[in-house]
Amino acid sequence: MPSDSAIAEVAFDAQAVRADFPILGEIVNGLPLVWLDSAATTQKPAVVLERLDHFYRHENSNIHRGAHELASRATDAYEQARTTAADFLGAGGREEIVFVRGTTEAINVVAHAWGRHHLGPGDEVLITWLEHHANIVPWQQLCQATGARLRVAPIDDSGQLVLEEYEQLLSERTRIVAFAHVSNVLGTILPAREMTELAHRHGAHVLIDGAQAVSHMPVDVTALDCDWYAFSGHKVFGPTGIGVLYGKLGMLNTMAPWQGGGSTIRDVTFERTLYKPPPSRLEPGTASIADAVALGAALDYLTAVGIDRVARHEQELVAHAGEALSAVPGLKLIGTAPEKAGVISFVLDGVAPSTIGRALDAEGIAVRAGHHCAQPTVRRFGHEATVRASLALYNTRQDIDALVAVIERLASRS
Ligand code: PLP
Repeated sequence: MPSDSAIAEVAFDAQAVRADFPILGEIVNGLPLVWLDSAATTQKPAVVLERLDHFYRHENSNIHRGAHELASRATDAYEQARTTAADFLGAGGREEIVFVRGTTEAINVVAHAWGRHHLGPGDEVLITWLEHHANIVPWQQLCQATGARLRVAPIDDSGQLVLEEYEQLLSERTRIVAFAHVSNVLGTILPAREMTELAHRHGAHVLIDGAQAVSHMPVDVTALDCDWYAFSGHKVFGPTGIGVLYGKLGMLNTMAPWQGGGSTIRDVTFERTLYKPPPSRLEPGTASIADAVALGAALDYLTAVGIDRVARHEQELVAHAGEALSAVPGLKLIGTAPEKAGVISFVLDGVAPSTIGRALDAEGIAVRAGHHCAQPTVRRFGHEATVRASLALYNTRQDIDALVAVIERLASRS
């Protein structure tokens, strides 16, 4: 009898998935588009485009306030998206989901609404060496404002966290640990459950930056036991301008309103304001309503395709890409941890990453060349820039082979 994974491999039909994404039919520079820049942003399936269209044609209204039919439709759709996000993350309840603009905003909200009220001189914030700037700069700003100290747990030459050193950096001074679930430069999957448990053992709270995880692997915040989890809609097949901050209800209750305004309040006089409980307290002003609703459609889409099957499909592609690229003379893979998801970074002797990016673009292949908003990580490997090919469920072996063919050509000329 074939194993479960064998059945899943056979059953995953990347061509059928591709047909769900209209933009993948684009011709770029005379050739069919090969999208290998999903870590920057993912493409959107037709169901997401249609959900946006449907909202604006049939449901558009502001939410929570209007005494009319469309206000009810829009409010129901928005709140249903909150439930969908809660289910997707395995949260304890829908009230643990705060809609924000994206991962960057989510991290900043925690730094401001929690950090500024709970940190002081002598306290420490612990991050790792493989963070996106969005998970460095808000903590630097917090430390500057409160007198706390930023500590950084090292990674090794393969891009794995050095767990013993991480553990040594934890102490009763550590108030919060913030780390990426998956590195956007190296693809490393961090041992998030273990890191969270160690942090909690020292009394620290934990924020996980899930921007590069949610589209690649199942995430269960209850099993992870993290205090906050952040992701961006546009990196999981949803629209830009919308994202999710999950927080344990007990933690959200300790967060002050980070912006004053409508939606957050229960009662206002000129003397004082009484706030609503979370999540409303943390969602000031008119939300990106349609985008939240369409994000719900994106999460439903991914769930219907099957995140476990997506993970296996991508693992197969990552292994194929790693094997093919490491055979190219002069090519060095950056990030070779055994636990990797969706991201392949590399440099090529004698050819600048920007030159490689342009050569690929000329053949319709979209990758990212640069520091990927993670300069300390890239510099850790002795570079200022790499080429990054990043995958999603719609990629195929042919996409990887097209990439490798161009790189081989460049290598043979350099
Ligand atoms: N964190 C990681 C690991 C990322 O890869 C990114 C974006 O690339 C972000 C945070 C920031 O996401 P956004 O720009 O959607 O807020």
